[in-house]
Amino acid sequence: MSTVSEKTQTLANFINGQWVKSKTDKYEDVPNPATGETLARVPVSTKEDLEDAVKAAKKAYKTWSKTAVPQRARILFKYHQLLINEWDELAKLITIENGKNFAEAYGEVQRGIECVEFAAGAPTLMMGNQLPDIATNIESGMYRYPLGVVGGITPFNFPMMVPCWMFPLAIAAGNTFILKPSERTPLLANRLAELLVEAGLPEGVFNIVHGAHDIVNGILEHPDIPAVSFVGSQPVAEYVYKTGTANGKRVQALAGAKNHTIVLEDADLDSAANNIFNAAFGSAGERCMACSVVVAVDSIADELVKKLVEKSDSIKMGDGLQDGIFLGPVIRDAHKEKTLGYIESGIEEGATLVRDGRKDKSLSEGGYFVGPTIFENVTTDMKIWKEEIFAPVLSVIRVKDLDEAIELTNKSDFANGACLFTDSAKAIRKFREEIDAGMLGINLGVPAPMAFFPFSGYKKSFYGDLHANGRDGIEFYTRKKMVTQRHAY
Ligand code: NAD
Repeated sequence: MSTVSEKTQTLANFINGQWVKSKTDKYEDVPNPATGETLARVPVSTKEDLEDAVKAAKKAYKTWSKTAVPQRARILFKYHQLLINEWDELAKLITIENGKNFAEAYGEVQRGIECVEFAAGAPTLMMGNQLPDIATNIESGMYRYPLGVVGGITPFNFPMMVPCWMFPLAIAAGNTFILKPSERTPLLANRLAELLVEAGLPEGVFNIVHGAHDIVNGILEHPDIPAVSFVGSQPVAEYVYKTGTANGKRVQALAGAKNHTIVLEDADLDSAANNIFNAAFGSAGERCMACSVVVAVDSIADELVKKLVEKSDSIKMGDGLQDGIFLGPVIRDAHKEKTLGYIESGIEEGATLVRDGRKDKSLSEGGYFVGPTIFENVTTDMKIWKEEIFAPVLSVIRVKDLDEAIELTNKSDFANGACLFTDSAKAIRKFREEIDAGMLGINLGVPAPMAFFPFSGYKKSFYGDLHANGRDGIEFYTRKKMVTQRHAY
């Protein structure tokens, strides 16, 4: 049950450098998923709120886009330092509103900081190129410019890292930005804005409009927003991509996942089990790079499953701020109920439940907990294989060899990540060449690329062509002007 205390804050939007009360009369409670205690109330803002943010961002664009690129970068350097100073506090806030344990939250802050580091390289990233002699006395050059007001729509599972995939690079490139954070984890976003003010970012360059689908639709329809970055579930990503592009916008929409991990006979099984365990159940399975299916060759499958079950029995579940907690809650009671529904469906469809996370006891009262759950004998016609569960539920499928494992993995509609545990160079090369997924891991569990590389999912895990981060990110947030010039001599 959520309880509203006197300390419960009502969140404001951040528009034109000011904290502004939304014009809405609708608010949603934001509970701490580990306790159910209400942390804040988030406004379900209106399109009028969005309009105010767009006006501010459009006005700020006039001067920000002309601000010297090294000057924009200097503000990001300052921001970088402020984020480092606040590291613990930011991580605490992530744990409180998202539920992942403090160490995981700490790692997420690091990932966010790395994005700011990358974006601070704007003077190099923004460079164009020239060819002095494309014809006699004629030269040609490419210059890179920002787009205008960019919209960013983010999910609950990485309240810091995912917004940081977007706004640091977008503003470094000279755009202004409107963030619509997840209404389930809106607190961290506001802290990011406070620190941007401290770093000296001019008003209107970064804005936050809290809310739900009305704001998303407002962003997708708005004639003054030429580009939208989205990260979230597959159906919403597809909708955002189709609607945004139909309205003439540049859209990158990163979507859901079902990541397979193949384990061969020659793998170091202890290392495989440790890595798979962390990848499947870390952050309560609520990672787009979570391992949700293990594809194990017959000869080692029994031993691997035994190790995974033993590890599952050894961890503590509870409030991620407490020492020694490995597994935090899932994000909401409704998500817990949905997860229990998937577990029921796995049983009904004939999978073998070898570890039942429904029976685990949490060390925290009132939260939304599901323990590590493992199914064996899963087949590709089952709902638990086809759909993203996004919770601590792992499916195990046995195969005879790498060929069969690759064929099975490639059947998935999703293509974010895939991992392989082996000692064989030949198997590694075959996996790299034949696996139909965008981010591959060899002998590790979560192959999420760093900020200077693109986050490269495809199939139903990504809609668009330019991915988040890396050179793709700078391409996404800029447009090019070609100048061809004749000289008299
Ligand atoms: P979600 O799709 O429910 O929400 C994402 C955003 O879309 C939120 O800001 C939300 O307010 C908005 N939204 C939700 N429903 C909407 C609708 N009907 N119309 C318009 N807007 C809507 O996603 P989530 O549950 O917050 O996040 C988890 C999902 O995000 C998982 O599927 C996960 O795999 C995915 N994800 C993907 C990546 C990636 O890089 N591919 C990274 C992180 C998360």
